[in-house]
Amino acid sequence: MVTCRFVPPYLLERLAAMHPDDHIGGCCRGTLVQDTELRQRRESSPGAAPGLAPAAVFDGPFAVHSADNGTSLPGRLVRAATDDPTGDAAVDEAHAGVEASLAMFADVFGRTSYDDAGAPVVATVHYGRNYDNAFWDGRQLVFGDGDGRVFTRFTKPVDVLGHEFTHAVTERTAGLVYQGQSGALNESVSDVFASCLKQRLLGHTADQADWLIGEGIFLPPVRGRALRSMAEPGTAYDDPVLGRDPQVGSMADYIETTQDNGGVHLNSGIPNRAYHLAAVALGGNAWEGVGRIWYTALTSGLGPDTGFAQFAAATVAAAEDVSSEARAAVADAWAEVGLAVPAGGAPVPAGSGPAPVGSAGSGTGELVVVTRSGGIVGRVQQAEVRLGDDPRTADLERLLARIDLTSLTASRPQPDRYVYTFEVGDRQVVLGEQDLTPDLAELAHLLLD
Ligand SMILES: [Zn+2]
Repeated sequence: MVTCRFVPPYLLERLAAMHPDDHIGGCCRGTLVQDTELRQRRESSPGAAPGLAPAAVFDGPFAVHSADNGTSLPGRLVRAATDDPTGDAAVDEAHAGVEASLAMFADVFGRTSYDDAGAPVVATVHYGRNYDNAFWDGRQLVFGDGDGRVFTRFTKPVDVLGHEFTHAVTERTAGLVYQGQSGALNESVSDVFASCLKQRLLGHTADQADWLIGEGIFLPPVRGRALRSMAEPGTAYDDPVLGRDPQVGSMADYIETTQDNGGVHLNSGIPNRAYHLAAVALGGNAWEGVGRIWYTALTSGLGPDTGFAQFAAATVAAAEDVSSEARAAVADAWAEVGLAVPAGGAPVPAGSGPAPVGSAGSGTGELVVVTRSGGIVGRVQQAEVRLGDDPRTADLERLLARIDLTSLTASRPQPDRYVYTFEVGDRQVVLGEQDLTPDLAELAHLLLD
Protein backbone atom coordinates (compact mmCIF):
# COMPACT_ATOMS: atom_id res chain seq x y z
CA MET A 1 0.00 0.00 0.00
CA VAL A 2 1.49 3.29 -1.04
CA THR A 3 0.07 6.38 0.53
CA CYS A 4 1.17 9.85 -0.30
CA ARG A 5 0.01 12.82 1.64
CA PHE A 6 0.92 16.07 0.09
CA VAL A 7 1.21 18.44 3.02
CA PRO A 8 4.09 17.49 5.17
CA PRO A 9 3.08 16.34 8.59
CA TYR A 10 5.80 18.60 9.91
CA LEU A 11 3.93 21.63 8.63
CA LEU A 12 0.67 20.40 10.10
CA GLU A 13 2.35 19.66 13.39
CA ARG A 14 4.07 22.99 13.54
CA LEU A 15 0.79 24.74 12.89
CA ALA A 16 -1.03 22.62 15.44
CA ALA A 17 1.65 23.22 18.05
CA MET A 18 1.66 26.96 17.48
CA HIS A 19 -2.11 27.23 17.53
CA PRO A 20 -3.20 25.07 20.44
CA ASP A 21 -6.55 26.76 20.91
CA ASP A 22 -7.68 28.21 17.64
CA HIS A 23 -9.10 27.33 14.28
CA ILE A 24 -5.78 26.64 12.54
CA GLY A 25 -4.52 24.28 15.19
CA GLY A 26 -7.86 22.52 15.23
CA CYS A 27 -7.75 22.02 11.48
CA CYS A 28 -4.25 20.59 11.60
CA ARG A 29 -5.06 18.27 14.48
CA GLY A 30 -8.17 17.24 12.57
CA THR A 31 -6.06 16.33 9.56
CA LEU A 32 -3.72 14.30 11.74
CA VAL A 33 -6.62 12.48 13.33
CA GLN A 34 -8.23 11.80 9.97
CA ASP A 35 -5.00 10.32 8.73
CA THR A 36 -5.07 7.95 11.67
CA GLU A 37 -8.67 7.07 10.87
CA LEU A 38 -7.67 6.38 7.29
CA ARG A 39 -5.05 3.95 8.51
CA GLN A 40 -7.54 2.24 10.76
CA ARG A 41 -10.07 2.03 7.91
CA ARG A 42 -7.47 0.39 5.71
CA GLU A 43 -6.49 -2.07 8.38
CA SER A 44 -10.10 -3.08 8.77
CA SER A 45 -10.60 -3.37 5.03
CA PRO A 46 -9.25 -6.68 3.79
CA GLY A 47 -9.88 -5.61 0.20
CA ALA A 48 -7.39 -2.77 0.48
CA ALA A 49 -4.53 -4.67 -1.09
CA PRO A 50 -1.52 -2.76 -2.39
CA GLY A 51 -1.94 -1.26 -5.81
CA LEU A 52 -5.49 -2.44 -6.29
CA ALA A 53 -7.82 0.11 -7.75
CA PRO A 54 -11.20 0.39 -6.08
CA ALA A 55 -14.02 -1.27 -7.92
CA ALA A 56 -14.70 1.12 -10.78
CA VAL A 57 -18.33 2.13 -10.78
CA PHE A 58 -17.98 4.39 -13.76
CA ASP A 59 -17.18 4.15 -17.42
CA GLY A 60 -14.21 5.90 -18.93
CA PRO A 61 -10.61 6.59 -18.03
CA PHE A 62 -11.29 8.48 -14.81
CA ALA A 63 -13.93 9.99 -12.56
CA VAL A 64 -14.10 12.48 -9.72
CA HIS A 65 -15.92 11.66 -6.51
CA SER A 66 -16.83 13.68 -3.44
CA ALA A 67 -16.33 12.46 0.11
CA ASP A 68 -18.78 15.21 1.15
CA ASN A 69 -16.40 16.15 3.98
CA GLY A 70 -16.40 12.60 5.30
CA THR A 71 -13.62 10.04 5.07
CA SER A 72 -15.30 7.22 3.16
CA LEU A 73 -13.60 6.48 -0.12
CA PRO A 74 -14.15 6.78 -2.98
CA GLY A 75 -17.35 8.58 -2.00
CA ARG A 76 -20.11 9.82 -4.28
CA LEU A 77 -19.48 9.95 -8.02
CA VAL A 78 -19.84 13.58 -9.06
CA ARG A 79 -18.17 13.94 -12.43
CA ALA A 80 -17.19 11.27 -14.91
CA ALA A 81 -14.61 11.93 -17.60
CA THR A 82 -17.12 12.99 -20.25
CA ASP A 83 -19.42 14.96 -17.95
CA ASP A 84 -19.73 18.74 -18.14
CA PRO A 85 -18.18 20.98 -15.47
CA THR A 86 -20.05 21.00 -12.20
CA GLY A 87 -19.22 24.50 -10.99
CA ASP A 88 -17.61 22.97 -7.89
CA ALA A 89 -14.02 24.23 -8.13
CA ALA A 90 -12.44 21.22 -6.42
CA VAL A 91 -14.34 18.75 -8.59
CA ASP A 92 -13.53 20.57 -11.79
CA GLU A 93 -9.87 21.14 -10.87
CA ALA A 94 -9.44 17.45 -10.06
CA HIS A 95 -11.12 16.54 -13.33
CA ALA A 96 -8.81 18.83 -15.29
CA GLY A 97 -5.73 17.67 -13.39
CA VAL A 98 -6.34 13.96 -13.86
CA GLU A 99 -7.19 14.48 -17.51
CA ALA A 100 -4.01 16.49 -18.04
CA SER A 101 -1.86 13.96 -16.15
CA LEU A 102 -3.19 11.08 -18.22
CA ALA A 103 -2.69 13.10 -21.40
CA MET A 104 0.88 14.03 -20.55
CA PHE A 105 1.96 10.51 -19.66
CA ALA A 106 0.25 9.19 -22.80
CA ASP A 107 1.32 11.86 -25.28
CA VAL A 108 4.82 12.60 -24.02
CA PHE A 109 5.94 9.35 -22.43
CA GLY A 110 3.73 6.80 -24.20
CA ARG A 111 2.30 5.56 -20.92
CA THR A 112 -1.34 4.46 -20.65
CA SER A 113 -2.50 5.53 -17.18
CA TYR A 114 -0.30 5.07 -14.15
CA ASP A 115 0.02 1.33 -14.60
CA ASP A 116 0.59 1.55 -18.37
CA ALA A 117 -2.41 -0.76 -18.74
CA GLY A 118 -5.19 1.80 -18.73
CA ALA A 119 -6.22 1.56 -15.10
CA PRO A 120 -9.18 3.88 -14.46
CA VAL A 121 -8.13 6.75 -12.22
CA VAL A 122 -10.28 7.46 -9.21
CA ALA A 123 -10.08 10.88 -7.57
CA THR A 124 -11.95 12.05 -4.48
CA VAL A 125 -12.29 15.68 -3.36
CA HIS A 126 -13.83 17.26 -0.25
CA TYR A 127 -12.10 14.63 1.87
CA GLY A 128 -12.51 15.29 5.58
CA ARG A 129 -13.09 18.65 7.19
CA ASN A 130 -10.49 21.40 6.76
CA TYR A 131 -8.20 18.62 5.62
CA ASP A 132 -4.76 20.05 4.87
CA ASN A 133 -3.53 17.34 2.61
CA ALA A 134 -3.64 15.22 -0.52
CA PHE A 135 -2.45 11.67 -1.02
CA TRP A 136 -2.34 8.58 -3.19
CA ASP A 137 -3.39 5.62 -1.07
CA GLY A 138 -2.31 2.91 -3.49
CA ARG A 139 -5.74 2.88 -5.08
CA GLN A 140 -6.84 6.43 -5.67
CA LEU A 141 -6.11 10.15 -5.41
CA VAL A 142 -7.58 12.03 -2.46
CA PHE A 143 -7.77 15.79 -1.86
CA GLY A 144 -8.74 17.87 1.14
CA ASP A 145 -10.29 21.31 1.02
CA GLY A 146 -7.58 22.89 3.18
CA ASP A 147 -8.28 24.87 6.33
CA GLY A 148 -9.05 28.06 4.42
CA ARG A 149 -6.59 30.15 6.40
CA VAL A 150 -3.15 28.72 5.76
CA PHE A 151 -3.90 26.23 3.02
CA THR A 152 -6.43 26.51 0.25
CA ARG A 153 -7.92 23.46 -1.44
CA PHE A 154 -5.38 20.90 -2.58
CA THR A 155 -6.75 20.59 -6.08
CA LYS A 156 -5.84 24.19 -6.82
CA PRO A 157 -2.16 23.75 -7.74
CA VAL A 158 -2.28 21.21 -10.56
CA ASP A 159 1.25 20.09 -9.74
CA VAL A 160 0.04 18.78 -6.38
CA LEU A 161 -2.21 16.45 -8.32
CA GLY A 162 0.62 15.62 -10.70
CA HIS A 163 2.90 14.85 -7.75
CA GLU A 164 0.40 12.37 -6.31
CA PHE A 165 -0.33 10.83 -9.70
CA THR A 166 3.39 10.28 -10.20
CA HIS A 167 3.65 8.38 -6.93
CA ALA A 168 1.33 5.87 -8.59
CA VAL A 169 3.58 5.74 -11.64
CA THR A 170 6.69 5.23 -9.52
CA GLU A 171 4.94 2.50 -7.55
CA ARG A 172 4.31 0.66 -10.83
CA THR A 173 7.79 1.21 -12.29
CA ALA A 174 10.96 1.42 -10.20
CA GLY A 175 8.95 0.93 -7.01
CA LEU A 176 11.41 3.10 -5.13
CA VAL A 177 11.34 2.24 -1.44
CA TYR A 178 10.25 5.21 0.61
CA GLN A 179 13.33 5.38 2.80
CA GLY A 180 16.67 7.14 2.56
CA GLN A 181 17.95 7.92 -0.90
CA SER A 182 15.46 5.75 -2.79
CA GLY A 183 12.70 7.51 -0.85
CA ALA A 184 14.12 10.93 -1.66
CA LEU A 185 14.26 9.86 -5.31
CA ASN A 186 10.63 8.75 -5.06
CA GLU A 187 9.74 12.23 -3.82
CA SER A 188 11.92 13.94 -6.40
CA VAL A 189 10.46 11.94 -9.30
CA SER A 190 7.00 13.06 -8.20
CA ASP A 191 8.17 16.67 -8.28
CA VAL A 192 9.88 16.19 -11.64
CA PHE A 193 6.73 15.01 -13.41
CA ALA A 194 4.57 17.43 -11.44
CA SER A 195 6.72 20.21 -12.87
CA CYS A 196 6.47 18.67 -16.35
CA LEU A 197 2.70 18.72 -16.02
CA LYS A 198 2.57 22.32 -14.84
CA GLN A 199 5.02 23.60 -17.44
CA ARG A 200 3.29 21.75 -20.23
CA LEU A 201 -0.08 23.22 -19.27
CA LEU A 202 1.40 26.71 -19.07
CA GLY A 203 3.50 26.29 -22.20
CA HIS A 204 6.57 27.36 -20.26
CA THR A 205 10.05 26.52 -21.43
CA ALA A 206 12.72 25.67 -18.86
CA ASP A 207 13.81 29.31 -18.87
CA GLN A 208 10.28 30.62 -18.39
CA ALA A 209 9.19 28.18 -15.66
CA ASP A 210 9.10 29.20 -12.00
CA TRP A 211 10.23 25.71 -10.88
CA LEU A 212 7.97 25.90 -7.84
CA ILE A 213 5.95 22.97 -6.50
CA GLY A 214 2.59 23.73 -4.92
CA GLU A 215 2.58 27.42 -5.85
CA GLY A 216 -0.76 28.86 -4.77
CA ILE A 217 -1.40 26.40 -1.93
CA PHE A 218 -0.69 29.02 0.75
CA LEU A 219 -3.25 31.67 1.50
CA PRO A 220 -2.22 35.18 2.48
CA PRO A 221 -0.60 36.21 4.75
CA VAL A 222 1.65 33.14 4.69
CA ARG A 223 5.15 34.18 3.70
CA GLY A 224 5.89 31.62 1.08
CA ARG A 225 5.83 31.12 -2.65
CA ALA A 226 5.16 27.39 -2.64
CA LEU A 227 5.93 24.15 -0.83
CA ARG A 228 9.23 23.67 -2.64
CA SER A 229 11.58 25.23 -5.14
CA MET A 230 13.33 22.86 -7.52
CA ALA A 231 15.68 25.62 -8.64
CA GLU A 232 16.61 26.79 -5.15
CA PRO A 233 15.76 24.14 -2.57
CA GLY A 234 15.32 25.69 0.86
CA THR A 235 13.87 28.99 -0.35
CA ALA A 236 10.20 28.22 -0.98
CA TYR A 237 8.95 29.76 2.24
CA ASP A 238 10.14 31.45 5.39
CA ASP A 239 7.22 32.15 7.64
CA PRO A 240 6.77 32.78 11.36
CA VAL A 241 4.15 30.04 11.52
CA LEU A 242 5.50 27.53 9.03
CA GLY A 243 9.17 28.06 9.71
CA ARG A 244 11.76 27.94 6.95
CA ASP A 245 11.81 25.58 3.99
CA PRO A 246 14.23 22.86 5.20
CA GLN A 247 15.20 21.36 1.84
CA VAL A 248 18.82 20.97 0.78
CA GLY A 249 20.17 21.08 -2.77
CA SER A 250 23.63 19.54 -2.61
CA MET A 251 25.25 16.34 -1.39
CA ALA A 252 27.48 18.51 0.79
CA ASP A 253 24.36 19.33 2.79
CA TYR A 254 22.85 15.83 2.72
CA ILE A 255 20.84 15.32 5.88
CA GLU A 256 21.37 12.08 7.74
CA THR A 257 18.40 11.55 9.98
CA THR A 258 16.11 8.83 11.20
CA GLN A 259 13.19 11.23 10.84
CA ASP A 260 11.04 11.53 7.73
CA ASN A 261 12.08 8.06 6.56
CA GLY A 262 15.64 9.32 6.37
CA GLY A 263 14.81 12.85 5.27
CA VAL A 264 13.07 11.93 2.03
CA HIS A 265 11.44 15.36 1.75
CA LEU A 266 14.63 17.17 2.67
CA ASN A 267 17.16 15.41 0.47
CA SER A 268 14.81 15.23 -2.52
CA GLY A 269 15.97 18.79 -3.13
CA ILE A 270 19.30 17.38 -4.34
CA PRO A 271 17.97 15.37 -7.33
CA ASN A 272 15.35 18.09 -7.87
CA ARG A 273 18.07 20.67 -8.36
CA ALA A 274 20.05 18.35 -10.64
CA TYR A 275 16.95 17.97 -12.79
CA HIS A 276 16.44 21.73 -12.89
CA LEU A 277 20.07 22.36 -13.83
CA ALA A 278 19.90 19.80 -16.62
CA ALA A 279 16.60 21.22 -17.87
CA VAL A 280 17.94 24.77 -18.03
CA ALA A 281 21.16 23.61 -19.69
CA LEU A 282 19.26 21.71 -22.37
CA GLY A 283 16.68 24.48 -22.76
CA GLY A 284 13.33 24.22 -24.50
CA ASN A 285 10.39 22.35 -23.07
CA ALA A 286 11.59 20.30 -20.11
CA TRP A 287 8.88 17.67 -20.50
CA GLU A 288 10.06 16.91 -24.03
CA GLY A 289 13.77 16.93 -23.27
CA VAL A 290 15.12 16.20 -19.83
CA GLY A 291 11.69 14.95 -18.72
CA ARG A 292 11.87 12.14 -21.26
CA ILE A 293 15.41 11.33 -20.11
CA TRP A 294 14.21 11.08 -16.49
CA TYR A 295 11.25 8.94 -17.56
CA THR A 296 13.56 6.61 -19.48
CA ALA A 297 15.72 6.27 -16.37
CA LEU A 298 12.72 5.64 -14.12
CA THR A 299 11.49 2.87 -16.41
CA SER A 300 14.90 1.40 -17.27
CA GLY A 301 14.68 -1.42 -14.80
CA LEU A 302 16.02 0.35 -11.73
CA GLY A 303 15.35 -1.52 -8.53
CA PRO A 304 13.45 -0.37 -5.47
CA ASP A 305 16.65 0.39 -3.52
CA THR A 306 18.16 2.67 -6.14
CA GLY A 307 20.21 5.49 -4.64
CA PHE A 308 21.09 8.91 -6.00
CA ALA A 309 24.28 7.79 -7.69
CA GLN A 310 22.66 4.89 -9.52
CA PHE A 311 19.79 7.08 -10.59
CA ALA A 312 22.22 9.74 -11.78
CA ALA A 313 24.07 7.12 -13.80
CA ALA A 314 20.79 5.92 -15.31
CA THR A 315 19.84 9.43 -16.40
CA VAL A 316 23.29 9.99 -17.89
CA ALA A 317 22.97 6.72 -19.80
CA ALA A 318 19.53 7.74 -21.04
CA ALA A 319 20.87 11.14 -22.05
CA GLU A 320 23.74 9.53 -23.93
CA ASP A 321 21.18 7.85 -26.17
CA VAL A 322 19.84 11.31 -27.02
CA SER A 323 23.06 13.16 -27.79
CA SER A 324 26.51 13.85 -26.47
CA GLU A 325 25.32 17.34 -25.56
CA ALA A 326 22.49 15.91 -23.52
CA ARG A 327 24.86 13.54 -21.78
CA ALA A 328 27.18 16.40 -20.87
CA ALA A 329 24.32 18.56 -19.61
CA VAL A 330 22.91 15.82 -17.40
CA ALA A 331 26.31 14.70 -16.10
CA ASP A 332 27.28 18.30 -15.34
CA ALA A 333 24.00 18.85 -13.49
CA TRP A 334 24.61 15.90 -11.21
CA ALA A 335 28.23 16.95 -10.69
CA GLU A 336 26.99 20.39 -9.65
CA VAL A 337 24.99 18.86 -6.79
CA GLY A 338 27.89 16.64 -5.76
CA LEU A 339 27.14 13.46 -7.71
CA ALA A 340 29.77 13.18 -10.39
CA VAL A 341 29.07 10.28 -12.73
CA PRO A 342 32.31 8.73 -14.01
CA ALA A 343 32.41 7.70 -17.65
CA GLY A 344 31.54 4.05 -18.09
CA GLY A 345 30.89 3.20 -14.48
CA ALA A 346 28.34 3.70 -11.77
CA PRO A 347 29.66 5.78 -8.88
CA VAL A 348 29.62 4.62 -5.32
CA PRO A 349 26.51 5.86 -3.58
CA ALA A 350 26.66 7.94 -0.45
CA GLY A 351 25.27 6.31 2.63
CA SER A 352 21.60 6.79 3.35
CA GLY A 353 21.11 4.63 6.37
CA PRO A 354 19.31 5.97 9.40
CA ALA A 355 21.30 7.42 12.25
CA PRO A 356 20.17 7.08 15.83
CA VAL A 357 18.27 9.93 17.39
CA GLY A 358 20.28 11.80 19.96
CA SER A 359 19.51 11.33 23.62
CA ALA A 360 16.71 13.59 24.72
CA GLY A 361 18.19 14.23 28.12
CA SER A 362 19.29 12.66 31.33
CA GLY A 363 17.98 12.58 34.85
CA THR A 364 16.61 10.36 37.51
CA GLY A 365 13.04 9.74 36.32
CA GLU A 366 12.15 7.78 33.22
CA LEU A 367 12.15 9.96 30.15
CA VAL A 368 9.48 9.55 27.46
CA VAL A 369 10.30 11.09 24.08
CA VAL A 370 8.03 11.09 21.05
CA THR A 371 9.19 12.38 17.69
CA ARG A 372 6.99 12.82 14.65
CA SER A 373 8.51 13.43 11.22
CA GLY A 374 7.82 12.82 7.57
CA GLY A 375 5.37 14.52 5.29
CA ILE A 376 5.90 16.38 2.09
CA VAL A 377 8.72 18.59 3.30
CA GLY A 378 9.87 16.72 6.37
CA ARG A 379 9.40 18.80 9.50
CA VAL A 380 10.37 17.17 12.76
CA GLN A 381 8.40 17.72 15.96
CA GLN A 382 9.61 16.31 19.23
CA ALA A 383 8.29 16.36 22.78
CA GLU A 384 9.65 14.81 25.94
CA VAL A 385 8.23 14.22 29.37
CA ARG A 386 9.96 13.24 32.58
CA LEU A 387 7.59 10.90 34.40
CA GLY A 388 6.73 12.19 37.82
CA ASP A 389 7.41 15.81 36.92
CA ASP A 390 4.61 16.21 34.46
CA PRO A 391 0.88 16.61 35.19
CA ARG A 392 0.20 14.03 32.46
CA THR A 393 2.19 11.38 34.31
CA ALA A 394 -0.87 9.38 35.36
CA ASP A 395 -2.21 9.23 31.81
CA LEU A 396 1.22 8.37 30.46
CA GLU A 397 1.79 5.60 32.99
CA ARG A 398 -1.62 4.13 32.23
CA LEU A 399 -0.75 4.07 28.52
CA LEU A 400 2.81 2.87 28.99
CA ALA A 401 1.60 -0.06 31.07
CA ARG A 402 -0.20 -1.30 27.96
CA ILE A 403 2.64 -0.63 25.49
CA ASP A 404 5.48 -3.05 24.89
CA LEU A 405 7.95 -1.26 22.62
CA THR A 406 9.95 -4.42 22.10
CA SER A 407 7.02 -6.23 20.50
CA LEU A 408 6.45 -3.70 17.73
CA THR A 409 7.71 -4.10 14.19
CA ALA A 410 7.83 -1.49 11.47
CA SER A 411 6.30 -2.08 8.06
CA ARG A 412 7.57 -0.75 4.76
CA PRO A 413 7.55 3.08 4.75
CA GLN A 414 4.85 4.78 2.72
CA PRO A 415 5.15 8.07 0.86
CA ASP A 416 4.31 11.17 2.89
CA ARG A 417 3.05 9.31 5.92
CA TYR A 418 4.27 10.28 9.35
CA VAL A 419 7.13 8.49 11.04
CA TYR A 420 7.16 8.19 14.83
CA THR A 421 10.05 7.50 17.13
CA PHE A 422 9.11 6.46 20.66
CA GLU A 423 11.74 6.40 23.37
CA VAL A 424 10.90 5.22 26.85
CA GLY A 425 13.93 4.98 29.08
CA ASP A 426 16.48 3.02 27.05
CA ARG A 427 13.92 1.43 24.77
CA GLN A 428 13.29 2.91 21.35
CA VAL A 429 11.19 2.05 18.33
CA VAL A 430 10.65 3.77 14.96
CA LEU A 431 7.25 3.17 13.38
CA GLY A 432 5.26 4.49 10.47
CA GLU A 433 1.87 6.03 11.09
CA GLN A 434 0.34 2.92 9.56
CA ASP A 435 1.91 0.80 12.29
CA LEU A 436 0.68 2.69 15.33
CA THR A 437 -1.53 0.92 17.79
CA PRO A 438 -4.34 2.99 19.29
CA ASP A 439 -2.30 3.28 22.50
CA LEU A 440 0.74 4.60 20.64
CA ALA A 441 -1.45 7.02 18.70
CA GLU A 442 -2.83 8.28 21.99
CA LEU A 443 0.65 8.57 23.46
CA ALA A 444 1.79 10.60 20.45
CA HIS A 445 -1.29 12.78 20.64
CA LEU A 446 -0.78 13.36 24.36
CA LEU A 447 2.78 14.57 23.94
CA LEU A 448 2.78 16.26 20.55
CA ASP A 449 -0.65 17.80 20.21
ZN1 LIG B 1 4.96 12.79 -2.15
